[in-house]
Amino acid sequence: MAIRQPVVSVLGHVDHGKTKLLDRIRGTAVGDREAGAITQHIGATEVPIGRIYEMCGSIIGSKKFTVPGLLFIDTPGHQAFTSLRARGGSLADLAVLVIDIREGLMPQTIESIHILRQYKTPFVIALNKVDTIEGWNSTADRPFVLSEKDQQAHTKEVFEQHMYEIISQLSGNGVFADRYDRIDDFTKAVALIPISAKTGEGVPDLMLMLIGLAQRFLETRLTKEEGPGKGTVLEVKEVKGLGQTLDMILYSGTLKTGATVAIGTRGAPLVTRIKAILKPKPLDEIRDPRDRFDNVKELHAAAGVKIAVQDATGVIAGAPIRVVKNAKDPSIQEITEETSIKIETEEKGITIKADAIGSLEALAYEAKAAGIPIRKYGIGEITRRDVLESSYGNDTHHVILGFNVSTSKDAEAEIATHSIKVMTNNIVYALIDDYKLWLDESTRQNESDKRVEFAFPAKITILPDHIFRVNKPAVVGVRVLAGRIRVGENLIDREGKDCGTIKSVRDDDGNVLKEGVQGDEVSVAIEGVTVGRQINENDVLYVDMIESGYKEVQKVELTDDEKLALSDTVAIKRRTEPFWGM
Ligand code: GDP
Repeated sequence: MAIRQPVVSVLGHVDHGKTKLLDRIRGTAVGDREAGAITQHIGATEVPIGRIYEMCGSIIGSKKFTVPGLLFIDTPGHQAFTSLRARGGSLADLAVLVIDIREGLMPQTIESIHILRQYKTPFVIALNKVDTIEGWNSTADRPFVLSEKDQQAHTKEVFEQHMYEIISQLSGNGVFADRYDRIDDFTKAVALIPISAKTGEGVPDLMLMLIGLAQRFLETRLTKEEGPGKGTVLEVKEVKGLGQTLDMILYSGTLKTGATVAIGTRGAPLVTRIKAILKPKPLDEIRDPRDRFDNVKELHAAAGVKIAVQDATGVIAGAPIRVVKNAKDPSIQEITEETSIKIETEEKGITIKADAIGSLEALAYEAKAAGIPIRKYGIGEITRRDVLESSYGNDTHHVILGFNVSTSKDAEAEIATHSIKVMTNNIVYALIDDYKLWLDESTRQNESDKRVEFAFPAKITILPDHIFRVNKPAVVGVRVLAGRIRVGENLIDREGKDCGTIKSVRDDDGNVLKEGVQGDEVSVAIEGVTVGRQINENDVLYVDMIESGYKEVQKVELTDDEKLALSDTVAIKRRTEPFWGM
């Protein structure tokens, strides 16, 4: 039975070499146009099996494959999330997770593992940049297994050390991986293929591994389906002279010019017609830059292609697209299901927005893992309505996290008036980190605001030889043993007796202070007492508290000394009122 090429997605942490690897693969694919097997794609690169036989040379032995090649999705970075999500599962049949051998697992590597797991995408790991290992002797485009043999013993050792460190990090994240040529059972371990995207070493091994896995485990999935075309939209673009176009991956069936298609949108599926199917012209055939495309009548899966459609209103990246008979075709219902986003929401929480279905789900996944509740979510730019609807709940929920989206002009105007915090980024983990930082900061701010509103537990002692004035008001030097004293606070002694009201707090030089905090020695003016009567040298005094203040103070994070001062104060209050504060 005829099978199609598997669709392969490349993902991993920023700077670990996704772009470089895709460049290398593109070079590999177009390197040999003479062979005639080269097909041009939009948003994807096809490496025909003939090229893979050539690249792998001796390591391939006499193996023959029926898999016709590999179709790499060309959009690295966050779009990988889009490319992974389709049919309620994974658009990509296989994925390559790129890890920099010297850096190991980084936040986006872990994010990628989560997303691969969520969509159940089988993957291999490209352990990139082996050429940077101390003393590594590179031979361009050589299979890794051969290249490794020629390295010095010490270099091999350093390489193995790095590799085992990464194997152990992976296992800490629930991924059991091993060097691909040491794996007996590929259903039990994830294959690690050491490569250099720079020199091309190991790239043949990577290709061979992908082809081998596809042949062995994906034959049924890859069996060519005749019939109506099915695909996933990668990008919606307005192109001069063509109007609305969709870059898409066709993963099943056939697409024909003039066909009616149903496409997922934020609302009901859009039913429209294909005006043209466009494939890029080979570079050397482009004479006029406006004439970059060839029109084709018909196209078979798998392929990356641009289609011009009559209408693309509301179409979102990551949406399913499929050929239908007409607007009443029952399979349109399936489009609705495939487009529906499954994110748990809470009554109280923040708003999240993202550029595509897959990225929105990735953001929701990471937010959930970080314990951040979500109340609202959506695809597309941050709108005025998002801002207005985010001003519910408490302040910590007045937040919009936007992944790879912009903020509309009229939304900007509302942000300030509604004191909404908007954070945008195109790295999921950075967005989550930004939110956590902001939350910490605003919690701290709220606490210090709260502290200002009510008397705060404090314990002071009157210093010997620091009586500056006996009364009206008494002025004495004190040391703040715990907490914080402020003007207007009432003082009590250990018996709970009234010891006056603080009228001023000053430093050594007589400067007026807002407060005296733990460890400070300050002079305070106290009204309503006389030294020698109510207060004396060496006395320990406390700030008096009212019951409502006590309840508030319990919500605040206190230091150990403050807690002691508080429990002393409570004990003093309970001498006269046994149920004080209960
Ligand atoms: P991406 O963010 O994952 O797409 O990473 P890039 O492909 O842009 O690579 C990041 C940097 O690492 C670039 O400067 C690349 O030239 C470099 N780089 C990528 N792969 C290799 C490699 O195999 N060896 C070496 N020495 N450098 C590499």
